[in-house]
Amino acid sequence: MERKGYEKITDFRGVALQYLTTVEELAKKPPMHAVVDKSSCSGCGICANLCEYDAIRIVEGKAEIDESKCDGCGLCKEFCPLKAIKLVR
Ligand code: SF4
Ligand code: SF4
Repeated sequence: MERKGYEKITDFRGVALQYLTTVEELAKKPPMHAVVDKSSCSGCGICANLCEYDAIRIVEGKAEIDESKCDGCGLCKEFCPLKAIKLVR
C-alpha cells in the first residue's frame, strides 16, 4: 500500500473492476509474448531457467526469446532482476 501511495483499503477498493472481462473477450485479443531489452540484460539466465515452455535461450550473454514457444505467462518478466523483459502483443 505504501509503494502505491494508498493509506487505507477504501483508497483502492474496486479499482480493478474496470479490468474484469470474459474469457471470450480475452480470446479475441492477440496473444502476448515476452521481449527482452538486450541493453539491460546481463545474461544471468534466471529467466531461461524459469520458463516452463523452453522459450528462452542465453545467446552470446543475452536472453533471446522464441516467440513461437512463448505462452505469454509473464513469469520471466516478474523474476528478471534487471526489469529487462516486458510483455507485448
Ligand atoms: S533474467 Fe533478465 S537479466 Fe537475466 S538473462 Fe533474463 S532477461 Fe537477462
Ligand atoms: S512469458 Fe512465460 S512462456 Fe514466455 S518466455 Fe516468459 S516465462 Fe517463458
